[in-house]
Amino acid sequence: MTRGLDAGGMNSTDLLVVGGGPAGLATAAAAARLGRRVRVLERRTEQRRHSRALVVHAHTLEELEAIDVAQPLIDAGLPSRRLTISRGGRTLLAADFQRVNSRFPYALVVSQEVTERLLQQRCVELGVELLPGTEVVDCFDGGVRLADGQELSAPQIVGADGLGSVIRARTGIGFPGSSDTRHFTLADVRLSGDAPAGLNLHLEPDGILVLGSLPDQLTRIIADAPTENEPSREILQRMLATRGPAGLAIDEVEWSSRFSVQHRLADSFGRGRINLVGDAAHVHSPVGGQGMNLGIVDGIELAQALVDGPEAVELWRVRRRAAARQIVRTTETLFGLATSRQPVVRRIVPRLLGLAGHTPSIPHRLATLASGLR
Ligand SMILES: Cc1cc2nc3c(=O)[nH]c(=O)nc-3n(C[C@H](O)[C@H](O)[C@H](O)COP(=O)(O)OP(=O)(O)OC[C@H]3O[C@@H](n4cnc5c(N)ncnc54)[C@H](O)[C@@H]3O)c2cc1C
Repeated sequence: MTRGLDAGGMNSTDLLVVGGGPAGLATAAAAARLGRRVRVLERRTEQRRHSRALVVHAHTLEELEAIDVAQPLIDAGLPSRRLTISRGGRTLLAADFQRVNSRFPYALVVSQEVTERLLQQRCVELGVELLPGTEVVDCFDGGVRLADGQELSAPQIVGADGLGSVIRARTGIGFPGSSDTRHFTLADVRLSGDAPAGLNLHLEPDGILVLGSLPDQLTRIIADAPTENEPSREILQRMLATRGPAGLAIDEVEWSSRFSVQHRLADSFGRGRINLVGDAAHVHSPVGGQGMNLGIVDGIELAQALVDGPEAVELWRVRRRAAARQIVRTTETLFGLATSRQPVVRRIVPRLLGLAGHTPSIPHRLATLASGLR
């Protein structure tokens, strides 16, 4: 038996959420806030130590207000007012978040680890039953089977179990798309020198480099450079020297890693009493920082739809799939252009961006889209 689980789950649980990442926790907190009895089944036993998502956008903060998580996040994060795209020290395009139509006119830079911790705390306050060390191996309409053979049932099930979702696979929902075989560099470092504020994308002849200032004097580095598993300070420093602003030195590497990119969208966001949220339903490159944001909004809106009834759930599936489809397509195109190795594309993209940067409506549109707003 899995700790503390009773097989009569159908009587004691309204909603089983499989996966305790940001999408699952947001779903659970929102459903509990609406009076539902919720269990989150998470196979990990420990909090993830390292961050992936760096930014919480304006629209996500608006949605997080409904579960009282917006303010604690704002207190923990760093508002970034601008996203700049530059080449050779020259700004090509600057998207100004201060002009977007939201109560939160900025991109909030905060590590995913912190976002998850705050969502988890809120779940506990709202009475959600969090069950770490609980792995789901199968599901059916109305229940799930755990690794220890036990079955749990509930009227509604949410698959928030990430890219390799068991729930999606067992429900027979396709997940078509593409996988990039390249690896990309990711690191959080402490810099000396004049570290740039906010979010900065450098499009250099060598490749792209993203620099984002995090709280605690940390800077996030993302680069389209093939690299070893945990790139060393020397490798990161070389990347910074060839692609970043002059005069920056890496004093300390907090952690470093590499990642690969996929662009995929589930054929449907649900079937019967099973629904999918977050990376289980859509995945794309980190360009634009949308993945976690989409997943959190999926979950909060699904919780309301589940309360409103089957028609609302149907509408939710169609609406959220359309929103994800737009993001997956846009990021696939932008990512392909930004990381292309073709000399012609590498020459043309900065020129086009320079032109776009001088057309006032385009930077504004980019800031609005990146913020998850219309
Ligand atoms: C390098 C990088 C940078 C990124 N930057 C950004 C960014 O700036 N902004 C942004 O919005 N997004 C960003 N993302 C994407 C973001 O990290 C993901 O979209 C987000 O983590 C997805 O959340 P999720 O809850 O859907 O899935 P996950 O975070 O993958 O959580 C799924 C959970 O389910 C659990 N689980 C899986 N299978 C089972 C099972 N069978 N039984 C029980 N539990 C299970 C897992 O242990 C995990 O805890 C980035 C991603 C990467 C790789």
